[in-house]
Amino acid sequence: MEYEAVIGLETHVQLRTKSKMWCGCANQYGSEPNTNVCPVCLGMPGVLPVPNEEALRLTVLTGYLLNCEIPRFAKFDRKSYFYPDMPKNYQLTQYDKPSTANGFVEFEFSSGAGVSPAQPGLSRVRITRAHLEEDVGKSTHFERHSGLDFNRAGVPLMEIVTEPDITSPDMAYAYLNTLTEILHQGGVSDCDMEKGMVRCDVNISVRPVGSKELGAKIEIKNMNSFSGVRRAAEYEIARQIEAVKRGEKLIQSTRRWDDVTGVTEQMRTKEDAHDYRYFPDPDLMPLAPTDDWLAEVKSRVMELPLVRKQRLMREYGLPAGDAEVFRSNVELGNYFENLAKQTKNPKAVANWIINNLLAKLASGTGVSPVQPDAHADGEFGEGQAGRAVPLLTLADLKFKPEALLELVGLVEAKTISSSAAQQVFAEMFDTGKAPAVIVQEKGLAQVSDTGAIEKFCDEAITANPNPVADYKAGKVAALNSLKGQVMKLSKGKANPALVGEILERKLKA
Ligand code: ADP
Ligand code: ZN
Ligand code: MG
Repeated sequence: MEYEAVIGLETHVQLRTKSKMWCGCANQYGSEPNTNVCPVCLGMPGVLPVPNEEALRLTVLTGYLLNCEIPRFAKFDRKSYFYPDMPKNYQLTQYDKPSTANGFVEFEFSSGAGVSPAQPGLSRVRITRAHLEEDVGKSTHFERHSGLDFNRAGVPLMEIVTEPDITSPDMAYAYLNTLTEILHQGGVSDCDMEKGMVRCDVNISVRPVGSKELGAKIEIKNMNSFSGVRRAAEYEIARQIEAVKRGEKLIQSTRRWDDVTGVTEQMRTKEDAHDYRYFPDPDLMPLAPTDDWLAEVKSRVMELPLVRKQRLMREYGLPAGDAEVFRSNVELGNYFENLAKQTKNPKAVANWIINNLLAKLASGTGVSPVQPDAHADGEFGEGQAGRAVPLLTLADLKFKPEALLELVGLVEAKTISSSAAQQVFAEMFDTGKAPAVIVQEKGLAQVSDTGAIEKFCDEAITANPNPVADYKAGKVAALNSLKGQVMKLSKGKANPALVGEILERKLKA
């Protein structure tokens, strides 16, 4: 019998707020242990929580970004359990009345999965809910003792739960990349995985192909990169299929991924909601967002990255690769669009930005300037937020954006050759001078004077008998080498089209 995998993801994301969820302590990574703490986030008896409104806004914003419904009633509940990193002995979370529910995410992945996306080549995963809760402290285990750092305790944490719509490890990977891209660009979270700002648990079951019933759900924890999630899922699916083929009955349980050995091992068997004794927190009012409040949050919704990519392709005729660069780098995309609106040749502008400007900005960092999907394949540490930063940014540019349009215009009008244009670009990058001024100062204007070009052609023909003979013997490609010689003699200023014409005429004579 053939088996298929069913996967659902639970992703925790730390929100980008100045302060923690229930107190004024800084929400800041990297401080000395236990310096961002107070009686509230240390869970002292008798303290009262005050909700962080920005965290509520970011959660509802996430709801809008993920096509969710925003219920007009939500509340916080206590999830009781004991663990040393959580001194209150309960975690505040939204149990049965979350702030957002019933949405979906669409992303580029051809899965043939059951939930139909709007377009071919895309997949859709339904979002069960995105709810708000709080992070816990962090334990570190030393040789003879353990340390507890409560800086992270009470940091606003959002949990995004999917329906079991994911059918493969690759699809899970693609979903996670798109989800974090949306949250990062939306300002919801820095999604810096190296700093533990994104953590993901994977729920997996297997069933005979064609069966509608779900198998026993097994939850995998402890992955620290998206590629770790993919590897863990691959391992676990193979393990489960092998087990059921052996006749073993799988039971609901939680397993731990070991990234070094590449296997999952059992942590505990099934725990149910009643084990946590959820109940509404008596210290917190339920949430009833007003129309005005929701409208303010909604005004923060930006164009989704995938939508932008598709629009750039449609509106400006960009190839997918170019649109991908502008999709993943919002600022650069804005820079491009501002110029693209002012020209008939947006593709040429995109070329200059991607092939020349990016390389210049990045020069010195030793990284490839074009990383359209660096986030799509890195470890958590190389995620989009942690990507190698270019030495310079757009704000450092000495030339006005419109100078690029001028440069494109000079090439189009054949005033300068494309190799001269490279020189002009380098100079305007270094000095900020206008392209026309540089062309003038450096005498880069293209020579279209046939007399001068004829002279260079004669010189090249005399000096290069071999390519001449080759060409006459029928090797048409030999013309390129002669053309190159003429361009060299003219110091790159000869009009290449004219050079070709004149050379051919002379050689055929
Ligand atoms: P719990 O109550 O244990 O949290 P949920 O039903 O809320 O379980 O599901 C948690 C996650 O597990 C969701 O992402 C959901 O899509 C996924 N899930 C649920 N049942 C299965 C299953 N049988 N196989 C794979 N994933 C599942
Ligand atoms: Zn505090
Ligand atoms: Mg659940």
